[in-house]
Amino acid sequence: MAKKVTKIGVLTSGGDSPGMNAAIRAVVRTGIYYGLEVYGIMRGYQGMIDNDIVPMNSKSVANIIQRGGTILKTARSKEFLTPEGRKKAYDNLKAIGIDGLVIIGGDGSFRGADVFSREYDIPCIGLPGTIDKDIAGTDFTIGFDTAVNTAVEAIDKIRDTADSHDRLFVIEVMGRDAGYIALHSGIATGAEHILIPERKTDIEELIDSLQEKGRRNKLVNLVVVAEGDGFGGADEVAKIVKERIPASDTRVCILGHIQRGGMPTCFDRLIASRMGYSAVECLLEGRDNVMVGIVNNAMEYTLLEKAVKSKQTIGDEWLKIVKILAS
Ligand code: ADP
Repeated sequence: MAKKVTKIGVLTSGGDSPGMNAAIRAVVRTGIYYGLEVYGIMRGYQGMIDNDIVPMNSKSVANIIQRGGTILKTARSKEFLTPEGRKKAYDNLKAIGIDGLVIIGGDGSFRGADVFSREYDIPCIGLPGTIDKDIAGTDFTIGFDTAVNTAVEAIDKIRDTADSHDRLFVIEVMGRDAGYIALHSGIATGAEHILIPERKTDIEELIDSLQEKGRRNKLVNLVVVAEGDGFGGADEVAKIVKERIPASDTRVCILGHIQRGGMPTCFDRLIASRMGYSAVECLLEGRDNVMVGIVNNAMEYTLLEKAVKSKQTIGDEWLKIVKILAS
């Protein structure tokens, strides 16, 4: 029988994502509801090492559900990669009496949580907070929906100007290892081509297709490229297009960090609230070393180790849809 938790810490770590605040709020308020003391750990694992840990109450999380970013700040901590760093972090948590942790972050943060919970007797629960949606064991991650909607809004605007000038735009969205933002935003904006890291980009096929569209006088084309696409991102793709189809009026737009910020969508606020609530329940039930996910609209718990090892895959049908709908 696991020891009952009494004091829990919550932190946001690694890359930020919209909706992290909603998740923090849910953890704090659920913890308080169950009579726990809740602490906010600043700047991810670095705050554990630096003892930058603050008590939180219901009021500390008032008026944040709609705010992007994270009130706890986030960071990448080199020191936490070392056993000495993790020992310092553990000693600080122990001194306060923290006996349960909720980590909101991406796969790197989960790797850290996995190592830490194996080394020490503090159970860790992970919540998938990443715009990339690249974690297995959940249909959605906190921040993905907002990031995609931000990208869609921007791409719609680009289409307006592309249409006015009969231009070809190569638009780069975020996603170093995962093409979900490119795929979803590309389909939702009617992009003619979507290039993602999960598929080897066939540049000849892209050129052929653009030339064929040119012969049909279809001059407005949007190519959405994930930043991690194997061919090298929007600049590289545009360079080749300009070389091979000199008549095309080609422009590049890199959406960049705007995709990380902004008010979280209703969907992200909802999943963050459900996952935050569920993380505290997990700690109370004596679960350890799991990620809380939502699969088919039900809560699902996946070992952190497994969540970081396997990735969500993109089925061929998605790309077939792109091809058919963008002809
Ligand atoms: P994300 O969570 O967004 O994927 P990172 O990959 O930068 O972000 O990971 C966040 C932090 O998690 C790192 O800065 C580091 O402190 C910690 N971390 C990542 N991998 C490990 C590991 N193997 N062991 C210990 N800590 C790790």
